[in-house]
Amino acid sequence: MRSTHTSRGRHWDGSPHTQGRRRALRVAADSPTRLLRTAQHRRCRHCGNQVEWHTTVTQRPIPLHPAELPTLIVPAPDRWHVASGVAHHADDGTPWCRITHPTLCPAHTTPQTLTPALDELRRRLALRTRRLLDTGAFTPGEQPLPETAEPDICRPARPVVQLLYSRYLAARPVEDIQCVAQTIRRTRCPHPLLTPGTTPGRWTLAPATLHRTRRQLALPAADIAVYDLGRLPYSEQLRWRTQHCPIHATTQSAPDLALAEWEPFDPLLHHAFLATRLPGSDQQHR
Ligand SMILES: [Zn+2]
Ligand SMILES: [Zn+2]
Repeated sequence: MRSTHTSRGRHWDGSPHTQGRRRALRVAADSPTRLLRTAQHRRCRHCGNQVEWHTTVTQRPIPLHPAELPTLIVPAPDRWHVASGVAHHADDGTPWCRITHPTLCPAHTTPQTLTPALDELRRRLALRTRRLLDTGAFTPGEQPLPETAEPDICRPARPVVQLLYSRYLAARPVEDIQCVAQTIRRTRCPHPLLTPGTTPGRWTLAPATLHRTRRQLALPAADIAVYDLGRLPYSEQLRWRTQHCPIHATTQSAPDLALAEWEPFDPLLHHAFLATRLPGSDQQHR
């Protein structure tokens, strides 16, 4: 991504000033991400303040405070920087750095001890939350993610999917996983990954862990339902991993409008989502 991020032209809370010429963003050939924007702007669902979701080297999205801060006021363990659209947990030697939003989030009931400058910033975010609440512009907990799932439902809300020798927890049912690419109309592609003409994966019952570690030996021995894409050609598995419909899997120049939603599956962490029965009565365990 060629876009650079500076604290110039921004309000104190990181929201951009509206003046200024719009410029076209494009995907650099050497960019590790096809996300059109350096970040996905959303609102913290706990406090209502703006956050920027960035992808990290481990592909796990991280919410950052939208503005850069002077490195001097941020303790070293809390410093982040963004390079080529990817967030790195370190400073880059410049006088500016980034910080995660949860470090500052005023909705956290047990906040960590902050430096006076960061405490002041947190206080200003808290004032903004109160103003949003007073004007009815924000309701805490809006756009909640599904936190729990029935252990024995026919269509898992967040299925476990196996592809490229890894397992991921999907953000939504398999049929509802949507392409992240941008269309020529600059909207997000409406096509699902599982379109007619593509080979679907296969539901199977399998042990909860691919490679059992010492930590996971305490897990129940029962098999779990896994949507297995591992038998598809490599290119198809890669298409699912990058979350593209068949059209956008072949058009490399199309930028992405959203992050791929895969979360690395952890049988202990995601225990609430484990299904022990295969979805649909026509699916056989082979
Ligand atoms: Zn927050
Ligand atoms: Zn698409």
